[in-house]
This record gives sequence, C-alpha cells and structure tokens, in this order.
Amino acid sequence: MAPARSVVEDILPLSPLQEGLLFHAQYEHEAKRLYVAQFVVDLAGPLDAVALRSAAAALVERHANLRATFRHRKSGEPIQVIRRDTPFQWDDIDLSDLDRATAVTRCAEATESDWARGIGIQDPALLRFILIRQGPDLSRLLLTAHHLILDGWSIALLMRELFQLYTHDGDISCLPPQRPYRQYVQWLMAQDRDAAKEAWRTTLHGLDGPTYIAAGNLSTSGRVSPDVTQDVTVELTPELTSRLKEQARRFDVTLNTLCQGAWAIVLGQHTGQDEVVFGATVSGRPAELPGADALIGMLVNTVPVRVRLDRGEPLHALLKRIQDQRSRLLEHDHLGLAEIQRLTASDGARFDTNFVFDNFPMNDYELDLPDSRLSIDVDYRETVHYPLTLAVEPRDALMLRLHFRPEAFTRRTAQDIAGRVARVLEQAASDPAPSVGAVETLLPGERKRVLGEWNSTTVHVPAHTLPELFAQQAARTPDAPAASSDGLTLTYGELEARANRVARYLMGRGVGPESLVALALPRSTEMVAAMLGVLKAGGAYLPVDPGHPAERVAFMFDDARPMLVLTDHVNARKLPQGPTESVIVDSEHFARELAGLDAGALSDAERTALLSPAHPAYIIYTSGSTGMPKGVVVTHAGVSNLLKWAVAEFGPEKLARTVVSTSFNFDVSVFETFTPLICGGHIEIVDDLLALVDKPVDRAGHLLSAVPSVFTEFLTATGTAIDAGTVVLAGEALPTRLVDDLRAALPERAVVNAYGPTECTVYAARWSSSGPVSGVPPIGRPIANTQVFVLDAGLNPVPVGVVGELYVAGAGLARGYAGRAGLTAERFVACPFGSAGERMYRTGDLVRWSADGQLEYCGRADEQVKIRGFRIEPGEIESVLREHVAVGQAAVVVREDVPGDRRLVGYVVA
Ligand code: AMP
Ligand code: MG
Repeated sequence: MAPARSVVEDILPLSPLQEGLLFHAQYEHEAKRLYVAQFVVDLAGPLDAVALRSAAAALVERHANLRATFRHRKSGEPIQVIRRDTPFQWDDIDLSDLDRATAVTRCAEATESDWARGIGIQDPALLRFILIRQGPDLSRLLLTAHHLILDGWSIALLMRELFQLYTHDGDISCLPPQRPYRQYVQWLMAQDRDAAKEAWRTTLHGLDGPTYIAAGNLSTSGRVSPDVTQDVTVELTPELTSRLKEQARRFDVTLNTLCQGAWAIVLGQHTGQDEVVFGATVSGRPAELPGADALIGMLVNTVPVRVRLDRGEPLHALLKRIQDQRSRLLEHDHLGLAEIQRLTASDGARFDTNFVFDNFPMNDYELDLPDSRLSIDVDYRETVHYPLTLAVEPRDALMLRLHFRPEAFTRRTAQDIAGRVARVLEQAASDPAPSVGAVETLLPGERKRVLGEWNSTTVHVPAHTLPELFAQQAARTPDAPAASSDGLTLTYGELEARANRVARYLMGRGVGPESLVALALPRSTEMVAAMLGVLKAGGAYLPVDPGHPAERVAFMFDDARPMLVLTDHVNARKLPQGPTESVIVDSEHFARELAGLDAGALSDAERTALLSPAHPAYIIYTSGSTGMPKGVVVTHAGVSNLLKWAVAEFGPEKLARTVVSTSFNFDVSVFETFTPLICGGHIEIVDDLLALVDKPVDRAGHLLSAVPSVFTEFLTATGTAIDAGTVVLAGEALPTRLVDDLRAALPERAVVNAYGPTECTVYAARWSSSGPVSGVPPIGRPIANTQVFVLDAGLNPVPVGVVGELYVAGAGLARGYAGRAGLTAERFVACPFGSAGERMYRTGDLVRWSADGQLEYCGRADEQVKIRGFRIEPGEIESVLREHVAVGQAAVVVREDVPGDRRLVGYVVA
C-alpha cells in the first residue's frame, strides 16, 4: 500500500548493511530486540524537560532518515520511505512524587520494560525517547532505536547534538550544517560494485569451510532466540595497553590490527582451523565523502576478515598480512555482507563471530557532551546477532568486551575466551614476540591443570601377568563358583585345573611367551578355560569368530599366523585350510591327552621362556583404513592395569555376579571375563545380552556391560522387567536418551560410560553416575596410570572447552599392530609430556575438557564409524567394493534413516 504522496518526503534505497538487517529482522520477526540499541542517560541536576523534548523533536525533524520506514517495492526491492507523518515518540514518566528509593526502583523497571519491548520493523517509528523523572534533580533519558536507522556511532553524535540544542535553548543554528544521509546513499550508488566484487572474490577465493566457533553449542532443535546477549569484560592494565600501542608502532600496524590478530589466533585455537574468517564491523564512513564523520544514520558494515595461521610465521608478519588485507579492501567495504558471501562458491566466507574496534566517537569512552549544568552518565546496550562479538574499547586501559549468546556459551566459557585474547595480547606485547605457533592460549594454570592435575592417576601397583592374578584367586576360593554357561558351572578350582591342563598341553606343543594361539570356540566355560590355558602357557590368544566371513577369517590366519587353533568339531569345518593346525577340544583324543596331564599349579620354570608382563596376552583385530584389518597386540601389563583398576573402581561386590555377553572378538569381553575372575566373582557366559530376555532370573545385583546400541535393544525387549546392579556401557557414544531410560528403569543404579580403543587395553577413561544426569554424558576421566591429552595439530594442549584430538598414554598402551611397524609408528607416537621414550596413542577421537575436568566425546577426526560397537573404516569396505570388475568408484557411508538404526550403505559408480 503506497503512502499518500503528501506525506512522503523522500524514498531511498537501502545501504548494504540495512538490507542485511532488514532481512534478518523480518526472518526473525519474533525477536523485537534484535538489532535494537538502548542509550541510558542519567541526568543529575535541574532539568528542563520541556526544552529537552523540543530539542529531541527538532533533531528528528532535522535528520530526515530518522523518520524512515521500511517497505518493499512490488519488485521485491526494499526501500526506505521518509515520511513527514512519522510520529515523534516521546514519553514522560513522572515518578517524582514517590520516595527516592521507590522512584529509583521504578525507573529501573521502566528501563527494563522499554528494553524488553524492543522495536519491530513494522512499528510506526524506529526511534523513541522516554524521559523518566525520579525527583527534582534526577532524571533518566532513554533513547531506543532500531539499527536500521542509526548505528552506534550516530547515536553518540545524536546525543551530542541533543544536548547542544538543549543548552542553546533550541536554537538550531548552534549545530553545524546538517549532512543529509541522502548524500551518503548517493555516494554509495556511485561506487564501482564490480571492482568491489572482484576484490572480495579474490580475497575469499579457495576457503575450505566456514569458521563457526559455536558449532555444536547451539541447539539444533528449533531456532534459538537471538535477542538475548550477555557480556563479559577483561580490562588490560594501562601499562600493558601502552606496551601494546608501542608494539603496534614497532610492527607498523594499528592497535586494531593487533587485536584482530589476537582474535584470529584464539579463533584458530577454538575451531582447530589453520585458516579462519571472522566479521569485522567497519564504520562505513568513507574519507572521500565530505563530513562523513558527522553523518547520522546507518553506515556501518560488517565485512569478513580472512586470516591464515601459519605456525612458523613471526607474529609481526601475520599482523602485517591482516593489515594489508584490510587496507586493500577498505575502498570496497561498501559491499553488503550477503553479497560478499555470495561471491564464494563454498560457504567458506561464513562465520559466527564478529569483531568491533572502537566505533564510537568518544574520548576515552566518555561521550563529550556540552556543558548543560547537568552531570551526565551514559550507558549503552544493544543486541547482536552473532553468538560471539568481541568489542575492543581502546581506552587508556584497553577493554575487551565479549558479547555472547547464552544459549551458545556459558558465562564461564565466554570469560575464558576473553581471557585468552588478553593472554595472547600479553605475549604479543613482549619482545621478541613469539611466532604464531608458539603463542600460548591457555590461561594461567590451565596447562598444569589439563596436563597434570586431571591426569594424576598414578596408583603404585606391580604389574602382574593374567595367569598369576587368576591363580592367586583360585587358591583363595577354590570352591566358589567361577564360570557358568548353558547350565554348567565350574568352580575356581575346576577352572584352574582345566586351564592348567590345557596350558601343559600347549606347552608340550611348543607354545610359550610370544606365541599365538587362535581360539575358535563357542561361547562357553570351555572358551574361558582355553583363554586361560593359552595365557598360562605364556602365549597370547587370538579370538576368531567362525561365524565371520570366511575371507576375513582366512585373512586373520594369514596375517597373524597363529601356531595352533583350538576349536571344536562344528567350528573346525568353517576354518580355512592352511598351515595352522587345528586342535579339536571336544575330541576323544584331546580328552585323553588332557587326562594324562598334571592339573596342579604351573611354575615359571615349566614354560619355554620366562613370562613377563611385557609379553602379549591377546591380539584383537579391528578394521583398518588401509583396506586391511589390523591386529592390536596387547600386553599382560596393560591387562593387569585394567583389571586392577576395575576391581578398585567397582569393588568385588558389584563384580560378584557378572554377565559376559560381549563377543570375545571385542576387547570389552576381557573386562567382563577377567575382572570378576581375579576377585572371586562368578561370571555367566551368554550368547548375547538379548539371550537374557528369555531367562528372567533375578539379576538385581548383577553387572551388565554392553555397547549402547545393543543395550537399547535389550531395554526395549525387557521393558521394566530389567534389573541390574551396575551397567557399564562402552564402545560407542552413549546417547543421553539411553541414560534417561536407564535412570527410569533402574533408579539409583550405577551407570558407567567407559571409553577406550583396543589400542589402549579396553578402557582409557570412564564416567559414572548413580544420580540424575543433565545433558550428554561425558566419557569422564582417565583410569589408573593413564594420561589423556587433548591436543591440536601441533601437539599442543588445547584450552578447556576446546575440541582437540585425544591422545592416550600410560600403562594400557598396546605394543602396536602385529606385523605393521609403519602403521604402529604412525599411531603410537612419542609423548612430549612424559618421560623419555614414552609413547602416546593417537585415537582419532575428538574430545574436549569440561570445566570440571571431564572429557566430552565429540566425534571422530577421521572417517571411522561404529555400528553396534563394531569399529569400521569405510575405506576398508570401499577398497573391497572397488575390487569388483564392474565397479569404478565406491563410497561407503553410515545412514540412519530410522533414528537408532545405523546402517552401512555402499554406493558404486559402474
Ligand atoms: P574399539 O577399539 O573397538 O574399542 O573402538 C574404539 C573406538 O570406539 C574409540 O576410538 C571411539 O571412537 C569409540 N568409543 C569407544 N568407547 C566410546 C564411548 N564411551 N563413547 C564414545 N565413543 C566410544
Ligand atoms: Mg574399546
């Protein structure tokens, strides 16, 4: 609906930033405080309210653009219509009859409600004044404006004009000649947009991806309300401030650039990127436009700053590059951000942080208002769109103000981020300044905390071998039940005797330390006796699931070359023909052989060589990115550390009845099987967890362990009939929902989230709770004698809250991959934080520290996936697909079309 001719004074196109603001303001039309600024001016002294009001009215008359309303042409083009009949909004609130304390309270309430009311773009005016009288000598003026018509700089100018006019009894001639906003718009129209586009395109070319610091913090469900921001501040000392200024001079860059460099480094650290983009608010007041400094309107723009972080580069060189980029682009700053971002094919120019350097014409951050016989105190607030905006206020003591959106950051995190900027600035001021990679972003004390305090897990226990630990327990409780399966129970004495005989048989066949014996047996007490037998002989066992594809089983035999395989009649037929001899444990022959062997305790001297904790205990195969599975060689020392930790963590009572339900091909079975067996517990071996559904036994005190996806199925199948004393979940990310469901089904029972790659001997960290849980359950803290490091690409510890890659060091570290020295050296690397020669395992998992020292799991750094606990490298499957003659290219991904139902899907190009 076109306004009547008579009331329309002018029609102007929108500036680039206005266009962007209008778009967002419409898009988020619920958010009435979005892009609204409120100036709070406290006036002490005698005030002539009528004069102030007429001064304000005169200013709105003088600056036509303050009366703009925003419309769209039929073509969709947005326009600003300057109207004569735009209402002048002035409210008087008189609280002067109230006692002072009440008046002050009411005044604060009125300020808040004005702020809460916000301004909608459909409102008849986008600027309003409220004068609140609290007494004869105390008043407050609120100036609230939408950023579509006024930027912060202009509000400050407007304020100055207001009080100038007020002190000159409304005589408009006291003000300098007015600079029409129209002139600015005309200047804008005259700019060479093509040249600007070319300059921006060149600058942003080749960016990989966006720079999102809040990624993962913002809830993805439903849009967040963008109109609440909070801020934290860090004030540098005047001494540091002046050293920074000096350093900037020495480097021949501005203080602004210096601060942008610091921000880029912190941003790089937080995002783990070596190239970052952030927004910078530019004043948009071109030097070539006469009087641009005095213009009142909306001129500022936000433009991207692209910074590559080169670890080896000297700081001054980085700053120089930033400054050069800015000065090259200065004359092109008039292009709107949306337009700039459209110039890149990728979303590389997108960002979620903004940087603002002093955009107010203030002297040491005080508005220099004319002497009005009033003492004037000004406060200012505005909402910002970005999850994080760093505003640098260059006073004598530099002030860093970080605006944050509370749904994306906690106050503490924001405070830490601001602190890191200060920390970087501190180092930037030092002489010589460090190179980019050597700049420390950790807060004082933080390094000690993440490397030391949160890793102080030392427990002095001698390393034992598994046979020693089991034999000791068997001697303590020979008549207690040790293991059951299919209704059959062996006591400790019986299991020990059987295992000793198997061991003597194997030793007779030459098995000893460093030999490998494959086990292809059903899940039963016999399997446990065989495992113990191999271990007692000094060998390492290799679990083989005969149900696995024949090719995979054949690969394992070929790759690991076990000396023997213990199997039974049924499974022997499924095993590949090869050099490995099968020993059929359910044969008459084997029974006769065993019967002739001593069942008594084994002595060290009987073995082919002395068994030490450094010898391997088992080899477990896991998927490999190179297209081939790889065998992880785990030592007795690692297992002994895990088991002793687990006994201490859970206690014999919780382990007294433990269900062994996890595949023996998966190292969780080591925890389930052997922890109870070294502390007198009774294990029950079942085919899988779901087998328990049909066996409703009272399991109130039992320990159950499983991967979360399997446990979810189990919970669905059993409903509320489930009971357990302790539930240990491991092997894949633990969904919050499962914890909630468990809490409902099993109130107050301990739920454990255990984390660990096979390479670190089952578990490296765990979290446990028996109370209510809020949010995603963490993977917790390192287990005994284990260190966890969250590192960046340069192997430096990342700050608390920042995602990095998890490295694990300590007693659990595997020896490496069987027969793969290169791969071993790639993943087991020198540990820069330990003693000489110490290694750490690079897990490929992304984690971050929570403020209270818990590790939170954030996904993978590579393509590896987990499906029902199985560790899968899509590359391994892709390489198999590509082997097919008809397949050119192949890709394998995980699809979860139905929530909770993760499937591997292969795509091929014929
Ligand atoms: P695996 O060697 O089969 O035990 O697989 C180890 C991998 O499983 C780890 O590197 C993680 O990616 C994943 N994983 C194991 N436990 C957890 C857990 N509690 N939370 C999230 N991921 C886990
Ligand atoms: Mg594991």
